[in-house]
This record gives sequence, C-alpha cells and structure tokens, in this order.
Amino acid sequence: MSQGCDLSVLEELTSNAKQIQDDVLNKILKANANTEYLSRFLEGSSDKELFKKNVPVVSYEDVKPYIDRVANGEPSDILSGEPITAFTLSSGTSSGNPKIFPATDNFENIKSAGALNSLIMSKHVAGYNQGKVMIFRFTHPISTTPCGLPLASVVTILMKSKHFLSMEKRSTIPKEIIRCPDKKQSMYCQLLFGLVQRDEVVSVGASFPSVLVQLINFLEKYWKELARNIRSGHLSEWITDLSCRDSVSIILGEPNPELADLIKKECTGQESWQGIITRLWPKTKCIETIVTGTLAQYIPVLEFYSNKLPLVSKNYASSETFFGINLNPLSKPEHVSYTFLPNMAYFEFIDVGVDGGTEGEIVDLVDVKLGHYYEPLVTNYYGLHRCRVGDVLQVTGFYNKAPQFRFVRRKNTVLSIYVESTTEEDLLKALARAAVVLESSDLIMTGFTCYADISTVPGHYVFYLELKAKVNSGTNVLLLDNKVLVEYCCVMEESLSSSYRTLRRQDGLIGALEVRIVQKGTFDSLMEFFVSRGASITQYKTPICINSVEALKVLEDKVLARFFSDKSPPI
Ligand code: AMP
Repeated sequence: MSQGCDLSVLEELTSNAKQIQDDVLNKILKANANTEYLSRFLEGSSDKELFKKNVPVVSYEDVKPYIDRVANGEPSDILSGEPITAFTLSSGTSSGNPKIFPATDNFENIKSAGALNSLIMSKHVAGYNQGKVMIFRFTHPISTTPCGLPLASVVTILMKSKHFLSMEKRSTIPKEIIRCPDKKQSMYCQLLFGLVQRDEVVSVGASFPSVLVQLINFLEKYWKELARNIRSGHLSEWITDLSCRDSVSIILGEPNPELADLIKKECTGQESWQGIITRLWPKTKCIETIVTGTLAQYIPVLEFYSNKLPLVSKNYASSETFFGINLNPLSKPEHVSYTFLPNMAYFEFIDVGVDGGTEGEIVDLVDVKLGHYYEPLVTNYYGLHRCRVGDVLQVTGFYNKAPQFRFVRRKNTVLSIYVESTTEEDLLKALARAAVVLESSDLIMTGFTCYADISTVPGHYVFYLELKAKVNSGTNVLLLDNKVLVEYCCVMEESLSSSYRTLRRQDGLIGALEVRIVQKGTFDSLMEFFVSRGASITQYKTPICINSVEALKVLEDKVLARFFSDKSPPI
C-alpha cells in the first residue's frame, strides 16, 4: 500500500482480514522459527497450530533479556530473522519505566496507515484538504545501544527518516523545526510558524493532549514576544538553533503589524482564553489528538480552548505495533472505535471479561466476539511473539471482517488501598462527574494524576489537580473555594466503586479522599521529569497514577492547598 492509496485499500485489507493475518503469521514464522527464542518451542517449524500450542504468552519482561542481549551486541537472529536495525523506546508513561523494542527503520506500514488516515479525514471533514495541518511534534537526539544501533522513540526515528518528508507535505511546520533538539526553541518556532500561517490552518493537534495543553500554556507566556517578532520581522536572539533561524527567516519576512495587533487583541482583548484556538486559527475544523482511555481527562480543557471543536482520535498504536485507525473521525470521544489493520502484525486476543481480571480463551483477530473484553497479544517481525500489550479493549463492531475496538483502559488496577480495585475506567467516570462541580465555579482542570497514600492510617486516595480559572481575574492568583473543593472530593468518592464505598463507609478501612491542588505549570514539570528520564515528548501521556517517589516529589513541591471529603459516601 503506498502513500497515494485510495480507500479501496481499506476495503481490501478489512475484507481479507483472515487471509492477511494468516500470511503475516506465516511470514513471521518462516523468518523467525530458527531464532534461539522460538526454536525452543517450535524446533524450526513454522506451523501455525504448533505456534499456538507451544509458544507461551509472555509479557515484555520475559522477552527483555533477549532484547538486551541484542542491544548489547549479540546477533539479532537470536530473536528475529528480520534484521533489527533500530530500537524504539516506549514513552514508559503508561507502564512506569521506558521499555526498548527491536524494530527497523522500515516505516511502510505506518506510512500506509497515515495515508489512510488522511483519506478518511478528507472524506469526513469538509475543507480539510483546502488548508494546512498544524500538528505539534518534537524529536530527541537519537542515542545508540551498546551494539551501535539507533535508539529513540518511534516518533523520533520516523521524523528523522526520509519517510517523514513525504508524509508531511501539508504541515505548517517544517521538519527543521521539529528536528530541533532544544524543545523550548522548537515550541516557540512551531507557534510562530502557526501564527504566521493562521489563515491556512484547518486542523490543530499533537499526538497526545498533554503536549497541546503545554503548548497553550507556553503561548500564554510567550504570545507578547511572538507578536513582537511578527511586528518587527525579527526573530528573538535566544533562538540560537541555526536551522530554526534559517527556516523562520523564510516565513517571517517583512514586518507584519496587522497580524501582531490581531494576536494582541485575541490574547488580551477578552476576559478569558476560552476558544483561543479558534480565535487565533479561525479556519480550524477539528483538534487532532487522542482523547480515548485515560486521555479523556483532557476533553473539558480542550473543549474550552477550542470552543468545542470536534476532537479527533485517529489512531491506536504503541511501541510494540500499530493497531488500528478510527474510521469515523468526527464521532464523539466516548463512541470512538479503532478498526484493526490486519497487515500491521499478527494479533491474538485473550478474553479478560468485563473486569479485565479473568483469563479466558485466546482467539484470532477475526474470531473476537461482539461486546467481549480482550487484551491484545502481539506477534511481530522483530522478535515479539504472543506478547501482552497490557490494554483492555472491547469489541464494538466489525468493518467487513476486521473487528473494531473501544479502548477501555490499561489492564492493571490503578489504585488499591485494601481489597478494592479501582481501575482507570472507574477514575475517569468519577473525574467526569466531579468535573461538573468545578464547572459550576468556573474552574477547569488542566492536569490530573493520583496515588494511593498508605503512609496514613487508614490509607487514602490522593488526587493531584492543576486548575485554571476560566475567566481571568486580572491576577495570577487562583481563587479556591473550600466548599466547592470539598464537594469535589465528595462527588469523586460517591462515583467510585461500591467496594471502595463500603470499605470507606462501613468498615473505615479507607480514609477520606484528598485533593491536592498544585501550582500552574506543575504538570509541565512532571512531563519534563519523565522526559529527562527518557520518555519521548511526542508520545508522552500523563500517567493517571504515580508510583515513583521522585515523580511524586515533583508534585509535592508544588502543592498549594489540600481538601478532604467531609462525609462518607452512600453505599
Ligand atoms: P507507547 O508504547 O509509549 O507508545 O504507549 C502505548 C500505549 O499508549 C498503549 O498501550 C495504550 O495504553 C496507550 N494508547 C495508545 N493509543 C491510544 C489510544 N488511541 N487511546 C488510548 N490509549 C492509547
């Protein structure tokens, strides 16, 4: 499938899902059956039934020793018959620590999914093709493993490869700016490019919403300087990256006082930053960023900044593999499903039940059942065989023979003090209900995470919240109403599971839920913290729950106020 594909490719892929999956597995087994890893189970056979019978379901930790051996210089054929030419780094923000995965710099599959996405967007979003997309992205320096192969996030490797050039023809932001190793300079220049081309922008986005929110915070801080640069036609001296300066010099051109005045008017003229995206980029038709799963916590703030433009979650992908695309990009976030593309990897699914805890039968892609909950297993060309992904998905339908899945949550329980198990989905439901309390007092949440504090007796849930006033008070001081925030804590508790409420109310085994409000910019600092530990900015997702002592310290240092629920929740 090539860049110039049309939607018939999608029909072909989804109608022949079974055959394509069989071919993918066959090809992988032919290439990998003699590797040290697989030959233990298959003795060189590439028989599908033997594969299913003998090769164990594993988690990343089981394969890691092999991956480490290749990264340290042993021949890649201990793990993969296909040459491993790169290692990708997962963001680690969903699982704890960054993981490395064997890969190649062949991005044909991802390119083809990108091409399908563009076609789908053009079909569903009127005028999408008539303008430019402003998708904010960042790269990191590529490091090397001890054996000398490149190691970086998938996004960095892709964006530094030649493939990226053909994929990004319609972007407002040139590759030199995205490839700039200094994030602050890159952010500044990406915004400058976007502002100068404001009349052409039809879509604004970032892979994940935390980056978009950070960009708006950055804009709040730097819009005056950006407007000054546009007014004078001169770029600030602190942008020292020569590639950035060269690119900007082409676009900045003559002084543009009209545009500078307009930016000033939009950024100061109104009481609030509500709708700032649509005010600065008036032709924007949608926000392209993923808001399913834990990322749903960003929906209110993105709707606030965009005046409720459609939020488009295009892909479901991970460092292990690309899974699927959203064929109805304008559907509401709660109705988004991803259609799996059968050519990406060989997929199997463990039935995990509605609670995500049971382990039922393992079925092939085309055999999943409507309404059932599954954890996907990935077998790819580069050494992952029946490897758990750790996500829970629910089947919502089929497109031809390819199943469509709703992303439910990460598999592991997020919070537990006693025997209750509070999942991401439970937390997101509670957050959505409690958001109404904030709305009523004109506050909006721009960052959220939590942890189970067992240093108190009894232990209790702690929620960190970064808030923003919808209306500017003229000062930078956030007015926190004790009544509202105590009510917020109570609504959160009422919305948690019945086992939580019973343990809290009847048995007193869980203490009162606590909310800690943190200073503005704290969640940016949290992102910086994870990035300094190897996470990719572009792939960064704020962890819904924090376990690392160092990360908690980043939050603790910035706590402004604490509130507790003042009554036990009804059972
Ligand atoms: P990484 O390997 O760092 O790219 O992270 C991959 C993980 O991000 C997946 O396993 C999911 O938990 C999460 N993720 C990726 N795409 C989506 C999506 N569309 N909706 C919700 N979560 C997603």
